Amino acid sequence: MINEIETKTLLSSNKNPSSWFGANYIFNIYRGCEHHCIYCDSRSLCYRIDNFDELIVKINSVDIIKKELKTKRKKGCLATGSMSDPYTKSEKNYLLTRRCLEVISENNYPVHITTKSNLILRDIDLLEEINKIYASVAITITTTDDHLSSIIEPGAPSSSDRFKALGVLSTLGITTSITMMPVLPFIEDTEANILDIVNKASYYGVKHIVPWLGMSLRDRQRDYYYKSLDENFPSLRTKYEKTFKESYNCSARNVSKLNNVLLEASSRYNISLKMPSYHHKLNSTQLNFLDKL
Ligand code: SF4
Repeated sequence: MINEIETKTLLSSNKNPSSWFGANYIFNIYRGCEHHCIYCDSRSLCYRIDNFDELIVKINSVDIIKKELKTKRKKGCLATGSMSDPYTKSEKNYLLTRRCLEVISENNYPVHITTKSNLILRDIDLLEEINKIYASVAITITTTDDHLSSIIEPGAPSSSDRFKALGVLSTLGITTSITMMPVLPFIEDTEANILDIVNKASYYGVKHIVPWLGMSLRDRQRDYYYKSLDENFPSLRTKYEKTFKESYNCSARNVSKLNNVLLEASSRYNISLKMPSYHHKLNSTQLNFLDKL
């Protein structure tokens, strides 16, 4: 089900830009998401979205972002994709993310996008234009197994298609990352999966992996996840309940060993495990300039 609403504001300030890809301002055009990942934290009570599987479309987003950017005295990196996917399936018809990117491009702002969809390739022309300043894209990949991803991320494009999208974006010089999060305990937390993600990241030219070897579980999001486990992995609920009880942070098994595997493999391929950010790029450009003086 889709619900269209008018919003009064779109951009919110991010007080701690180092927390999320150097974002100074965050925006979400959609509430809810059609990718239906079984682990999605945005279902938690604190976000006050009663039915996360229903898509709410902020239909006047383009007018609002246009107005808000005109009044910003300080330029900063704009980020989308932290609470819902800017390339949820309906974006194909609504074109709101695309039209907001047009506004961002016209106003010369840097941008960071997090998504799980190769629909982002539709907007490559705009990303290339914005990348004259800075464009960064993180695509979330939690497993290299397409069958598994079709169970845990049932509405999203396959992991293989996401890797291919990263390959195209990397070739065009756009800063690319894999957000390797969550890594689901007892399902995805194997050395083979971690190594395969790093190998494929390297093959597709990705320079950053932002990992979280575990997942979060709380209130109604935990209920939703456990119900999905019952349907798809019948033996696992008991293991989760026994291992994690009421914990919010639920680590992968053998987390330090997995961490070492990740560190070793990523350094072999010269892949950074730090979030890229516009501010780092800006500082290194300034340093390079000073070096030449
Ligand atoms: S793509 Fe992101 S926002 Fe959408 S359901 Fe999956 S985790 Fe949630």
